[in-house]
Amino acid sequence: MRYRVSLPEPDSHLFHVEATLARPGAAPELCFPVWTPGSYLIREFTRHLEGLEALDTEGHPLTITRLDKHRISVAAGNAAAVVLRYRVYANELTVRTCHLDGTHGYLNGAAVFPYAAGRLAEPCQLEVVPPAGWEVATALPGGPTSFTARDYDELADSPVEIGRHRLLRFEVGGKPHQLAIWGRAHLDEVALVEDVRRIVEVFERLFGGLPYDRYLFILHLTEKRRGGLEHARSTTLNLARTSFFPRDAYEETLAVVAHEFFHLWNVKRLRPAAFTPYDYTREQYTRLLWWFEGVTSYYDGLALVRAGITEPRRYLRRLGQALTALSRTPGAAKTSAEEASFLAWVKQYRPDENSVNSTVSYYLKGELIALALDLALRRAGGSLDVLLRTLVAHHADAGLPEDGVERAAAAVLGAEAARSFFDGFVRGVEPLELRLEQLGLRLRRRPAAGFDDKGGTPRAENGRPEAGWLGIDLASGPRLLVQSAREGSPAARAGLYADDEIVAEDGLRVVDRAALWDRLCQEGPGGKLRLTVFRRDELREIEVPLAPAPEDTVWIEPAADAPIPARAAFEAWCGGRWPEGSIRDASG
Ligand SMILES: [Zn+2]
Repeated sequence: MRYRVSLPEPDSHLFHVEATLARPGAAPELCFPVWTPGSYLIREFTRHLEGLEALDTEGHPLTITRLDKHRISVAAGNAAAVVLRYRVYANELTVRTCHLDGTHGYLNGAAVFPYAAGRLAEPCQLEVVPPAGWEVATALPGGPTSFTARDYDELADSPVEIGRHRLLRFEVGGKPHQLAIWGRAHLDEVALVEDVRRIVEVFERLFGGLPYDRYLFILHLTEKRRGGLEHARSTTLNLARTSFFPRDAYEETLAVVAHEFFHLWNVKRLRPAAFTPYDYTREQYTRLLWWFEGVTSYYDGLALVRAGITEPRRYLRRLGQALTALSRTPGAAKTSAEEASFLAWVKQYRPDENSVNSTVSYYLKGELIALALDLALRRAGGSLDVLLRTLVAHHADAGLPEDGVERAAAAVLGAEAARSFFDGFVRGVEPLELRLEQLGLRLRRRPAAGFDDKGGTPRAENGRPEAGWLGIDLASGPRLLVQSAREGSPAARAGLYADDEIVAEDGLRVVDRAALWDRLCQEGPGGKLRLTVFRRDELREIEVPLAPAPEDTVWIEPAADAPIPARAAFEAWCGGRWPEGSIRDASG
């Protein structure tokens, strides 16, 4: 199949597409994907199509019959080729959809290009006709405007950036890497290139080489972060312009870069057998997303320490924050990591106010399972690094079977220990067992010290007594909007709902979250709040008796008396120096 994309009027947000199918047969069936790999939600890309017509090579119209929402059949007769013409409205600025305006064009193959049923394995050609002065960046071989793909999967897996992007370059292992940047930011490009290079080197060492000829990072810098999407030879990252300063924000950004890059092994080359081959017409189910997203999340932070970008203490703070988030998720006691993986299509990509009470993120739980598994493997003389290499070596072609991780772990831990680990923490909802003392570390707990206290550090001295417990999360922004009421909390028992807006307490306006927190400290456990809330447009009063706050805020500290072997194990694990002194210094 040959595809030609032009952008005669970028401000219209319309890509003009011509797709030519040679040797069509009498009635070829053409399919438009309903989802794009890596983003587990049915997106119905055809809703953005318009003006669909089919022609033969002489330009005579051919009759199109719609088979369903995303498939058509063309009465081709004995035409030598079928030419489909249509436009795609592209005004959705995410990494998994398409965007076109007066400054650039960005397209994902699955959102734009149909394939002929039964012919996914055939090579594809792509020609882009950019406006004058615009250039094309994609991981596909070829260029500057004509490209080839081995098959439809490679085409769908190679997003295309078209515009006046800045192009930064570096090499690792003799292989060219590029960053194509659309959008403005105050950013030190030299430092960014150097840090990304160090991240690539860490993974090159971990996996013993780079399995591509060339790699492309597409960066979209906009007003807010919209995440990243992994591909085999490229990634697209949508980052906030403000995500390069201060240091914490910058390191978080580098962690996203590391995350998407790591995926080129974990979920691209090593992918679930359930996704082999990809089926673009419907949901594909696996219980392993906790592995593919959780292990990737684990390594995106660890890689920054191994690259010398993050101090080990800052990484411990991040792990403490992840443990805090998990301990504040009542849904983690109801939904296992496997179940959350399987239901990604209806849960993970459709979060709502009940998610915290009913389910758990397979990213978050998976990251902490990865840590627990790494600790267990290290006690048995192995490591997650080695397990990963083993899985990539054995399953990169046929795909990772659903029991593949457990079997590989059993080879190191023994069958019984592996079964008990997976029964408890992966298939089950038992609290994770983290034997951090083997790394000279200690897990500590305390109550939260504010609505925005994410944990990861000891409590800062603020001169306030212990707060009474309400049990709500507030949405970000200036209004005191209840985002969720945690199941079993005083707020939930008293009938405070998600989306209630707190406007007053004891008859007086509450100006901000700090003022509300002060009232919780002033009343303390055993006290009560008399809240006035807007529920939709109706004013209500709700009295909430306050309970003692749970110790749901976690941090990890180096044990002052950690023996030398534990300190050595720590350094072997994270690649950084044993942190002297208190982790408190790492905050701020
Ligand atoms: Zn990911």
